[in-house]
Amino acid sequence: MRSVSVHRRMLGVADMSRDRLLADIVAMSPSALDDWQRCPRLYLNRHILGLPASDGSATAQTGNLVHDLLRYLHGLGDCHDPALRLATLENHGVDDHPTVGAMLDHHAARCPVGATAVGHELEVVRLSRLGRVWIGSGRLDAVWIHDGILDVRDYKTGRVRDGDLADDARAQFQAWLAQPLAPELPIRVRYEYLSEAPDLDPLEYEPDADDLERVERELGATIDAIRDAASAGEFTGVNETETCRLCAYRSICPDSAVAAEPTWPLPDDHVD
Ligand code: SF4
Ligand SMILES: [Zn+2]
Repeated sequence: MRSVSVHRRMLGVADMSRDRLLADIVAMSPSALDDWQRCPRLYLNRHILGLPASDGSATAQTGNLVHDLLRYLHGLGDCHDPALRLATLENHGVDDHPTVGAMLDHHAARCPVGATAVGHELEVVRLSRLGRVWIGSGRLDAVWIHDGILDVRDYKTGRVRDGDLADDARAQFQAWLAQPLAPELPIRVRYEYLSEAPDLDPLEYEPDADDLERVERELGATIDAIRDAASAGEFTGVNETETCRLCAYRSICPDSAVAAEPTWPLPDDHVD
């Protein structure tokens, strides 16, 4: 019979002490990076502990629905066809939804005509060896090739961000992840705000190779900071009203700046 230590070696965890929080090779995604930048405790809860959300969000539900609808729509055919958009809404029972129909219309007005689809809801993985090795992964909402560029779209259903997209760590990360898909082409990341009319000026980020190498180094430095936090066991919450009021753990977090009731189902009967 194999010993426990043999099983642990087979699983690649031979050197992992009982209280270590991170693996030797850290995995990072744009959404995890965003959570880390919002609040270290949020990052801990979601990406290390894997806690289910204690607080719901109608905005997140709409966002997930629209992402699903767009993937389905592009699987049906050309999203510029109004009949296909209507069929998509009807097939999902949301043809009378107050907002998602308009979001599909807004998308179609922005979707490149005659482009080659690299993928929708495309899972990408990339290894970084610039410093300590880490793995980046993420899901790109849509990737197209057209007009000599690799066009990476991120569908947004929330508020339009302020400032330059070149300063957005998520957009930078997405561009770095997408780079191997077409190394010979320039990359453009565009945030597509589906609630907004198509005449909104597009938010775009067009990095060159030097920019992406700098992005990779900065991501590596951030991951080193997360390693340090994990070693020290310090993931202190930000305790800021603006951040906490939208947090998926606001009702259970001891560092929360807002009071809330968990949406977790609670037992009716319990033994004292
Ligand atoms: S409630 Fe606030 S402090 Fe707690 S994890 Fe969420 S954002 Fe961080
Ligand atoms: Zn489209």
